[in-house]
Amino acid sequence: MNPVFIPGPTNIPDAIRKACDIATLDHRSPAFARMFRPAVDGVRRVLNMSGGEVIILPSTGTGGWEAAISNTLSAGDTVLAARFGMFSHRWIDLCQRHGLNVQIIETPWGEGAPLEAIAAALRADKAGKIKAVLATHNETATGVKSDIAGIRRAMAGHGALLFVDGVSSIGSMPFDMSGWGVDIAVAGSQKGFMLPAGLAILGVSDKALAAMDSATLPRTFFDFRDMLKSYAAGGYPYTPAVGLISGLAASIQMLEDEGLEAVYARHARLATGVRHAVAAWGMRPFAARPELYSDTVTAVQVPAGCNGTDLVKLAADKYGVAFGVGLGEVAGTVFRIGHLGMLTDVMMLAGLATAEMCMADLGWPVRLGSGVAAAQEFYRGSVALRAAA
Ligand SMILES: *Cc1c(COP(=O)(O)O)cnc(C)c1O
Repeated sequence: MNPVFIPGPTNIPDAIRKACDIATLDHRSPAFARMFRPAVDGVRRVLNMSGGEVIILPSTGTGGWEAAISNTLSAGDTVLAARFGMFSHRWIDLCQRHGLNVQIIETPWGEGAPLEAIAAALRADKAGKIKAVLATHNETATGVKSDIAGIRRAMAGHGALLFVDGVSSIGSMPFDMSGWGVDIAVAGSQKGFMLPAGLAILGVSDKALAAMDSATLPRTFFDFRDMLKSYAAGGYPYTPAVGLISGLAASIQMLEDEGLEAVYARHARLATGVRHAVAAWGMRPFAARPELYSDTVTAVQVPAGCNGTDLVKLAADKYGVAFGVGLGEVAGTVFRIGHLGMLTDVMMLAGLATAEMCMADLGWPVRLGSGVAAAQEFYRGSVALRAAA
């Protein structure tokens, strides 16, 4: 079996897979509470939260978006969001379908959240109509990371909440919920946490919790109030995904055994090696500038006349290896290499070698071994020596 190189779902380590495989447990028993607590406390540390509450819903990242808005906003409320890729687009669409008025800052794909334009929109909002700013920390479609601390600075003097989609960054890239002043952070189980899909994982600030009282958007399954009431009694308002929660505790244990800083450094190194390969192929990341380059996914711009989707299809059909296709307006013009979760330099080299074989098969102007060699040079020069066992 080959590892996948898609930006989620990610490869599942054996220890986490085993931790998910547990016998049926009564979720109203103290045994469940004993399992749940470490998962919640661990999420707090990964998000770097102070105050607020962690909410873990049987859902996916998309459900996390819906929970964030339905618990804090009312129909007709205005939210501010920049659109610069498929995921920021889909969150906007979800808000519109809930009857929110989305003030959209159209931003070229390949760029990140536009701080100046966000600041200007908030300055112009003298009446305080904007209730929340939505930000996609890592736009998985384009391989672009945004400056969340910068967005919070751009919001200075405005009372809006800051909601951040961290589905493809949390657990793989530094995240500082309290330092950045994030009101709701949304993650999913199947990316940085290396679990199967099935959990939406949210950090909710005290300010966002206070907004629940006046919010009138309909919610039942996702209602934080029911969740928090049940949490207080050590349980859930309905049947929790017990196996995934057991896996989440194991995931956090694994991340912390490696050390969160080391996990982030590993992702930065994996990403840098991939970009060395991309440059050696004569290609470039789709992200507009180096400071926007994501540590978890690279959208590779393919040469004129080539189609990124052909590469992804061939890799799957011929070599049994998964890469990501270009989505939306970059369909065909990019393919995506996911480099997050349980991956090492050595695994990454296998992925790069496979991409190169596909390029050669497709007659793209790339010399076999060129990207792999560039990544090898980088990895062997930057690897930290393993502690003697
Ligand atoms: C994967 C992803 C999502 C969607 O999550 P699902 O778990 O598939 O619902 C949302 N935002 C970003 C940035 C993602 O990468």
